[in-house]
Amino acid sequence: MHQEKKVEATQLNELFIQQVKSWPLLRDNYELFKQVQIKTLEIDGLPVTVQFNPSRIVSLGAKTDARSIRERKCFLCSANRPAEQVSVPFGEDYLILCNPFPIFPQHFTVPARQHVEQAIGGRLGDMLDLAEALDSYTVFYNGPRSGASAPDHMHFQLVTKNYMPVDKLDISQTKLIRQGTNAGLYLLDNYLRNGWVISSDSKEEALRFFALLCVAQDTPAGEAEPMMNIFCNYEKGQWILKVIPRKKHRPSQYFAGGEEQFLSSPGAADIGGVFITSRPEDFRKASPRLLRSIYTQVCFGNDELTQIKVG
Ligand SMILES: [Zn+2]
Repeated sequence: MHQEKKVEATQLNELFIQQVKSWPLLRDNYELFKQVQIKTLEIDGLPVTVQFNPSRIVSLGAKTDARSIRERKCFLCSANRPAEQVSVPFGEDYLILCNPFPIFPQHFTVPARQHVEQAIGGRLGDMLDLAEALDSYTVFYNGPRSGASAPDHMHFQLVTKNYMPVDKLDISQTKLIRQGTNAGLYLLDNYLRNGWVISSDSKEEALRFFALLCVAQDTPAGEAEPMMNIFCNYEKGQWILKVIPRKKHRPSQYFAGGEEQFLSSPGAADIGGVFITSRPEDFRKASPRLLRSIYTQVCFGNDELTQIKVG
């Protein structure tokens, strides 16, 4: 018999409170997070919050090539997780864990129970279920080459809603390109992190529109899916899904030397408008010009987006 995918926000709050009490690393990092420095930039009229979060250096500099991944112990597998880390189940396939290196006031990781590759194929429905069950959070997904620090272990992330500017996107600013019975597919352009928005009362229609988007985009050789970040919310009986295609993971500044170097490994948070830096010089250097350059390298411009023919 299938276990229902039921979970409530109160369970997550209890998990969070319990972990703050019993797990010193997590408690310390959440204390540091309360004092995290931020600055707000406006890029082409769009707000972006830059966060200076030194504890994220591990993730920003993480080697995610196949060999480095093979040679490290997977931190999402139960056998390798710290003894202090406890979980709340989500259905038969997933666990919800507190992230001990937060970039949000509440930050959870939702790994599959099994060590299986990060891939959205066959799992978007789980993402919709998670958003519906926990409608006070935003669920996001980083593709295996689009910011996931564990590309070998399937996981979603669950974060404080409305913390990322992308959560507050006004859908009336987007262009309807496909109308379904209970769903609409919209083009999100002039946003520096262009893509599409699906708004749907029906799970089936949301899945169908998403499948159209996956087919429309190029899949890099040797990969299972197009490069992308996905955001999902559930509000008033409706799913809002934002799909942001990616051209590459890291910008040229990541690999530059000297003054030019800027350590940025954009994942969903950065794309969503919470830009993470972990060295003081990078926090200082983050400017509208630099961030525009980075977004332009890793995301699609207006012209590039319209070249992707959907449906
Ligand atoms: Zn694993």
